[in-house]
Amino acid sequence: MPSLTQQPSWPPGLHMIRGLMSVPHVLVDESGVVLLDTGFPGDARRIRHQIQRLGRGPRDVRAILLTHGHIDHAGNAAALQEWTGAPVYAHPADQPHIEGTYPYSGFAHVAGLLEAVGRAVTRYRPVKVEVPLRDNDVLPLWGGLQVVHLPGHTLGHCGFYSARHNLLFSGDLWVRFMMRTQASPRIFSDDIAQVPASMRKARSFGARWVVPGHYDQPNATRLRRRFEELCEEMERREDAVV
Ligand SMILES: [Zn+2]
Ligand SMILES: [Zn+2]
Repeated sequence: MPSLTQQPSWPPGLHMIRGLMSVPHVLVDESGVVLLDTGFPGDARRIRHQIQRLGRGPRDVRAILLTHGHIDHAGNAAALQEWTGAPVYAHPADQPHIEGTYPYSGFAHVAGLLEAVGRAVTRYRPVKVEVPLRDNDVLPLWGGLQVVHLPGHTLGHCGFYSARHNLLFSGDLWVRFMMRTQASPRIFSDDIAQVPASMRKARSFGARWVVPGHYDQPNATRLRRRFEELCEEMERREDAVV
């Protein structure tokens, strides 16, 4: 059993922010700052503070990346876009989510209602996607971030793979939330049928770190183990169905 002291250290320049609902990240290196998701409305202040604590300012921010358009990830994109002047990157299929016009159906109707209430209560403001993400594109940010389209949770849901750090940001493909590890659940998925293939695609990177959009402890070993166990459990279930 690896002991805690053997745990690989958290990559340098990766800063998690404990948001109201999700975990946005601030990525820093010699070339500047990248925001990876913007949290639920109200999280902007924490993100601004974190950037300032790191001795950086709004003009150092080069890009705002969104894994997808749910309100707990795109919640402050408009405010942070105004503060930094940085362009917003997201998959074009998620623009309707960002705008609150996505036609939810079936079980996901519940998620649509929750989001509509959230938008009204928080006076959420949508943002226009300026740079469309495409699968496999490598963005010249944080030493190179490869766009990994992982549809299912939303149709335009994307992860980002850093070869430099051997790390995959996997968004809400799977999450660690309320002490439970789970793949994107039916009520929060645009197309649940695409989730298993996206899990396999994410796993195929064999990344040393797999960092989701919701988690409790920034413990690389534990996050990786939880992701692997979840993949194996899903594969067993798929085998059982066949
Ligand atoms: Zn989501
Ligand atoms: Zn989320």
